Amino acid sequence: MNRARLQPAFRFAPSPNGYLHLGHAYSALLNQALARRHGGRFLLRIEDIDVTRCRPEFEQAIYEDLGWLGLAWEEPVLRQSEHFARYHAVLAGWRREGAVYPCMCSRQDIAMAVARREAATGRPWPRDPDGAALYPGTCRDRPVAEGAPAALRMRADAWHGPDDLGWREHALPDFTPGAWHKAADYAWGDAVLGRKEVPTSYHLAVVLDDALQNISHVVRGQDLLAATALHRRLQQRLGLTPPLYAHHGLMRDGAGAKLAKSAGSASLRDLRRDGASREDVRRLAGIPDAW
Ligand code: GLU
Repeated sequence: MNRARLQPAFRFAPSPNGYLHLGHAYSALLNQALARRHGGRFLLRIEDIDVTRCRPEFEQAIYEDLGWLGLAWEEPVLRQSEHFARYHAVLAGWRREGAVYPCMCSRQDIAMAVARREAATGRPWPRDPDGAALYPGTCRDRPVAEGAPAALRMRADAWHGPDDLGWREHALPDFTPGAWHKAADYAWGDAVLGRKEVPTSYHLAVVLDDALQNISHVVRGQDLLAATALHRRLQQRLGLTPPLYAHHGLMRDGAGAKLAKSAGSASLRDLRRDGASREDVRRLAGIPDAW
């Protein structure tokens, strides 16, 4: 076992599809503070698989904003867009094994199939933990023309794992063991593991890269808690040792909504332009000094 594996490693993994806001500053500062506290490394990963929404200027802004905040990370930075071949190889293997199948459905096809089933049964169709309708299985056994653009979905029924597969949540800052979550309690159905335009999904890339980078402690927002059930299933099939998980609370705006690029929350650049200092942002982010 190499040294890197033994030393704790933390990461911040933003997507360059907008400017960072206070919630990102919180997560990045938190991970750096914890890395320091636990004598660990601090890595930055650019999660830029979404070729339609990620832009070079947003990536540049991530480096600038984090540098302004006083963060220092190890080089080289892993950029997921440079690793498509690695993700593709995993999916190709799973396709041969029948663990994933091609799906041609558009969002609209799915919405219509779900509406038809709801009308026929008079019952609401089951939803995933994010509230999206579970895939109704239209393409599960449908032949697809070779080379046609298709997403790859996990054939969830065929993914047999141990009944007790799950993960433990940990409390910060010392990773005190907390509640056990059973993966089976979070139903994602036939989740997309490879998208039509890119040979991966967030879920597959995050699991492969946390392992590749020897990340020992994953500290990220509560909005990804339920997705961890899916990540555990992928890790289990890949034979990967899971990291320790801690999902932190999300920063909210005055109205109680979670901060989001899409909702136009003030970016770190806006705050800076309005005269906020790095200390102001650190204070607003609210990482306890003792951490
Ligand atoms: N790239 C994800 C995001 O920006 C974070 C992924 C993670 O921390 O697992 O929301």
